[in-house]
Amino acid sequence: MSRILKLDALEILDSRGSPTIETTCLLQSGVSACASVPSGASTGAAEAHELRDGDGARYAGRGCRGAVRAVENEIQGALVGRELQSTKELDDLLSDCEGTRDRSRLGANALLSVSLAFTRATAVERGVPLWRAFHEMLDPVSGLEFLPRPTINLFSGGLHAGGQVAIQDVLIVPATADTIAECLEVAASVHREAAGLLCERFGARLLTADEGGLAPPCASSEAMIELAVEAIERAGLVAGRDVSLALDVASTHFHEAGAEIYRLDEESLGASAMVERLADWVDRFGIVSLEDGLAEDAWDDWPRLHARLAGSCLTVGDDLLCTNPERIRRAISSAAADALLLKVNQIGTLSEAAEALRLARSAAWNITVSARSGETEDDWLADLAFGWQGEQIKVGSVTQSERLAKYNRLLRIEKDTGLSPARWPR
Ligand code: PGA
Ligand code: ZN
Repeated sequence: MSRILKLDALEILDSRGSPTIETTCLLQSGVSACASVPSGASTGAAEAHELRDGDGARYAGRGCRGAVRAVENEIQGALVGRELQSTKELDDLLSDCEGTRDRSRLGANALLSVSLAFTRATAVERGVPLWRAFHEMLDPVSGLEFLPRPTINLFSGGLHAGGQVAIQDVLIVPATADTIAECLEVAASVHREAAGLLCERFGARLLTADEGGLAPPCASSEAMIELAVEAIERAGLVAGRDVSLALDVASTHFHEAGAEIYRLDEESLGASAMVERLADWVDRFGIVSLEDGLAEDAWDDWPRLHARLAGSCLTVGDDLLCTNPERIRRAISSAAADALLLKVNQIGTLSEAAEALRLARSAAWNITVSARSGETEDDWLADLAFGWQGEQIKVGSVTQSERLAKYNRLLRIEKDTGLSPARWPR
């Protein structure tokens, strides 16, 4: 049992130089802990609401002073001095306090910062690692058997890179690496080769995208996938064996609703043609995980995509599902996907995200625990991915400290637990 003495919130900046919120939770025992929340750019329409100030004179309206006030006034007022047995109990109080389903009053950013800071403070109070506190939230609590296998951003397009090609992320999956340390070594080596390749091909060391990946001005999305295969082979590795590919197509963001057309680079594809194109890429490039291949509300087309890919590649829902239990239930019943991209701030509290995870597991889905494109140097995501036993973790590139904070934390967890990454996709 713990009691909150004080909540102290602060507007800080994320990896895009855009405001976000961190909260320090002081418990009556004298223990305190701090946590900060990330923010997306290619967001799903069904995501929980982030509270932004909307004052165009500051950070183009993206200030978080209102979220800070929400934590320090209303939320603190409702929580201080109460006996709290668990994060679930805290989250229920936060939800009552918020009062809306879409978190549009106090904001998912304000709520999540409190949920995380409290969980971290209680873990410190009990002298257990954060991952154990996350793990104990699961119902039923299963075993801790493996570490998440990193899926690592190599190239970006779409909303993460200014749209030079349509698809958002080409990721590499070190498939035969036996440790996190080895996964990172492989990723760094492919990244280095890719950077060299781009210098040769485009005459310059190219700037990085939001998640630290490279953003080559390729002629098409397919050319960017081919370049990834080339970089893997230049690193002396076998594409499809040592290193597999994953894609976040993020197709909602180049789907024209109404016309029901995907504007894939220079082409215009209907849903059937899009499914065939994606299946062709999966076959030719050994893609093992395909996220948001279709638009977030294309419910009628997703089952076709899933049926087409089943057996060779995961059909992952991000914008489609928004870590939202109602949407996951719908996707399970229509066989629209077989993997969940889990982002806690899409739904607003840890407990609701745990419910999303439980549902996905009930259908034997695979789980990728994911960062956002706007991140902070906080490392709680690594503990979450391990504690919740995600087979994959998606954090971004092996450059930039807001990404490395999570990878480096995974290295520590690996050393402390002696476990190995999930045997996936082998
Ligand atoms: P976001 O991107 O954080 O900008 O939403 C990540 C993703 O689409 O997976
Ligand atoms: Zn995505």
